[in-house]
Amino acid sequence: MTNKIDITTLNDLQASWNFPTSIHFGAGKISQLADICKTLKVNNPLLVTDAELVQQNFVKEIVQSNEAAGIKTAVFSSVKPNPTGSNVEEGVAVYKNGKHDGVIAIGGGSGLDAGKAIALMVDQNYSLWDFEDVGDNWTRINPDGMAPVIAIPTTAGTGSEVGRASVIVDEATISKKIIFHPKMMPDVVIADPVLTQGLPAHITAATGIDAFVHNLEAFCTPAYHPMADGIALEGMRLIKQWLPVAFENGDNLVARSHMLIASSMGATAFQKGLGGIHALAHPLGALFDKHHGLLNAILLPYVLLRNKPAIEEKIIHLARYLDLDDVSFSGFINWIIKFRQDLNIPDDLAAIDITLAKKTLIGSMAVHDSCAAGNPIKFSKDQYSEIFQSAVDGNLQCA
Ligand SMILES: [Zn+2]
Repeated sequence: MTNKIDITTLNDLQASWNFPTSIHFGAGKISQLADICKTLKVNNPLLVTDAELVQQNFVKEIVQSNEAAGIKTAVFSSVKPNPTGSNVEEGVAVYKNGKHDGVIAIGGGSGLDAGKAIALMVDQNYSLWDFEDVGDNWTRINPDGMAPVIAIPTTAGTGSEVGRASVIVDEATISKKIIFHPKMMPDVVIADPVLTQGLPAHITAATGIDAFVHNLEAFCTPAYHPMADGIALEGMRLIKQWLPVAFENGDNLVARSHMLIASSMGATAFQKGLGGIHALAHPLGALFDKHHGLLNAILLPYVLLRNKPAIEEKIIHLARYLDLDDVSFSGFINWIIKFRQDLNIPDDLAAIDITLAKKTLIGSMAVHDSCAAGNPIKFSKDQYSEIFQSAVDGNLQCA
């Protein structure tokens, strides 16, 4: 009944695609970076990554092999796990001082989002917050003032390498803001699963479920977008099959390959929209500085249960596609809870030290988050506060 075509030979997991942007996919593809820089006429790139990744050998090797090919490559690594407006400002200053001509963004969400935002801001007449994804703010951006971007993901979760936005923390309001422009889609992606091999199991799990939630919220949002729906379904099937394998054995490059593309598929699908899980995860990430994927993973069933009246049919269709034993709505919820437990993800927010103290604030931040618009049911701030409370308490009784 479901799609059983599975490629499990690493040699077959190599490809070049021009959808949704130019993607060089497969183990070892990082070796093409210098040639890609030359093709884009990027001869003096600024490599943007975070403080942890810059310690990794592969970042040093990337710089060395670029330099060996005659491409002088400077590194900016002052990027926080949840990148801030000042991180972007500082990066733009370094870019201008070094007279750079392109950005190589390497990382999970942090390095990729910061790199894309820096590239956006190198020559604009407005401040970063003037480009928040509200109304038609994006039309203020001068696309000619944006630097070219090569994006290199090191986690399989965010999918930011194929996303047209960056999530940046506004320190003044302690909130996460989405900065959007269609041309923020990186020019070229190098998706090399070898770079995700060293991820510890708990990060593999949290980022992998984030990718699942991207596909799931995109699938459930009511907008008309059959292309996104098709991508989302197959993205979730790949994650169901391969995330447990990558979690158990991080060196399995076949599993890492499938997870890496499933992550890109999630971000491709969510051009259609996201929903209430992300609307709650954004304020929680900003207020408690917790891992975005982990927050989504924990929030997942609590938001789905509240959305049941609007999504039940879609979830049954999804459960059939995933070949679950019980293809009812509650069967899907039970499967997701088991799937999550097998990945050692806690059942509730209390387990990661989130309390109810800011319950009202979180409800009102969630209702104003731009992802709230995509949720199948328009929740009020009180309803978001209630969902938050059920996620803290671990209360899975259907509302
Ligand atoms: Zn996410």
